[in-house]
Amino acid sequence: MTINCDVAVLGGGTGGYVAAIRAAQLGKEVVIIEQDKLGGTCLHRGCIPSKALLRSAEVYATVKESAAFGVETAGATLVFPKVQERKEQVVQQLHQGVQYLMRKNKITVLKGTGRVIGPSIFSPKSGSIAVELEDGEMETVVSGNLIIATGSRPRQLPGLEPDGQYIMSSDEALTMDALPASIIIVGGGVIGVEWASMLNDFGVEVTIVEAAPRLLPAEDPDVSKELQRLLSARGVKILTSCELLTDSYGKDEEGIQIDIRQGEETQTLSAVKLLVSVGRQANVENIGLENTDIRVVNGFIAVNADYQTHEPHIYAIGDCIGGVQLAHAASHEGIAAVHHLSGEQAHHTPDHMIPRCVYTRPETASVGLTEEQAKQAGREIKVGKFPFQAIGKSLVYGSKDGFVKVIADRESNDILGVHMIGTHVTDLISEAALAQLLDATPWEVGQLAYPHPTLSEILGEAMQAVDGKAIGI
Ligand code: FAD
Repeated sequence: MTINCDVAVLGGGTGGYVAAIRAAQLGKEVVIIEQDKLGGTCLHRGCIPSKALLRSAEVYATVKESAAFGVETAGATLVFPKVQERKEQVVQQLHQGVQYLMRKNKITVLKGTGRVIGPSIFSPKSGSIAVELEDGEMETVVSGNLIIATGSRPRQLPGLEPDGQYIMSSDEALTMDALPASIIIVGGGVIGVEWASMLNDFGVEVTIVEAAPRLLPAEDPDVSKELQRLLSARGVKILTSCELLTDSYGKDEEGIQIDIRQGEETQTLSAVKLLVSVGRQANVENIGLENTDIRVVNGFIAVNADYQTHEPHIYAIGDCIGGVQLAHAASHEGIAAVHHLSGEQAHHTPDHMIPRCVYTRPETASVGLTEEQAKQAGREIKVGKFPFQAIGKSLVYGSKDGFVKVIADRESNDILGVHMIGTHVTDLISEAALAQLLDATPWEVGQLAYPHPTLSEILGEAMQAVDGKAIGI
């Protein structure tokens, strides 16, 4: 059977389903093809389940520390199956929400695996996709425009592939039915540090092995340093500038052993489990790209600034094009692509202006350039920094750790970057991103009468600190 539509979306993750909704809102007939579950990585194997687990870990840690707040408890007991059950409930509720949105917007959902089969016989400017449905039947979708949003999967290390017992990627880790006593986490990027913080709070002995000289190598070094200090203080063992000697990997009934080299020294690490979190690989294979002129560069689908591939009627968005591999980047790109193909005004946020959040305890969040990047870009900079220690609401919460750092251009006063670490900073970064988007100067942001006592006061103080005018220090 053949289904004709205006826009077909291949992949129903955050990028794909948001693009589908916006296309339907603009009056398009839309078909979305998803081989697994609508919501994709973010909803089922990423943002939401990991944050639900992190929240349970935070509650557990808070209960254990409650005596400091004058609340004595008889002791905290972690019931991990309940933690997993709660996580599943959150995911299921949101999954139902996405399904409802498809019905509400009259989007046709095909559950099956799609492959681009080239230009349609009706018009070389439209595309056809062959869809193998769950029951093995085939369906053909012919669309005016196609949006590829096939996402990504965990990158594997040769010799350390998930084995169902000892070695996990984040996919397997999310569905663990019991916690290991100890774990080695390979990779100190976003996913690695979130798992380290969570598992440490759950009482697991955690070792992070990172090849770069610091955790979160893409973030501002001051943030990395503070996070490393705070995780170390909680007992996380952090080994940076490390080479993992994968050939040395061994396992027995106790767990796993693996050697690492740091400079001249080699040591053997052992743990019950190993989590590999070394980035994400785009899903670009077996989706029929060979039937098109679409190019893949460094493993990602190449697109122009409007998210068009080398076949102008075919767009690609989200993790499969690389860049900022985050859910809100994927949905933003999806909306921009739909606006472009519809002839509507499309808003493009440059990659560096997409906020980046890390949900460790405490959280980190950033937008714009790091100090190093600003200097490399030849900017004369001025920096304002303000500590959470001087923010009343942070002390009320029970934390004096962290800071906000603002980097501005000395001449133009442009906000170049804002970097945060501290309590709930993932909820504070949007204001900084908006200020940057609207071209505000640090002085302008500092003019707001920030409500007191709130964590948000720190942004006003850090902005004023850029010109030496912070009040609280
Ligand atoms: P995906 O969500 O990967 O969706 C792609 C979809 O396409 C999948 O459902 C897949 O089944 C489907 N598909 C693929 N090929 C085909 C085919 N041939 N036919 C039919 N369907 C197909 N981002 C954040 O912003 N915040 C976070 O806190 C965060 N936490 C994360 C935690 C973890 C552990 C992980 C792994 C990721 C996290 N991310 C987070 C990243 C975020 O999940 C991704 O950036 C986001 O899901 C990308 O969306 P997407 O639509 O591009 O792809």
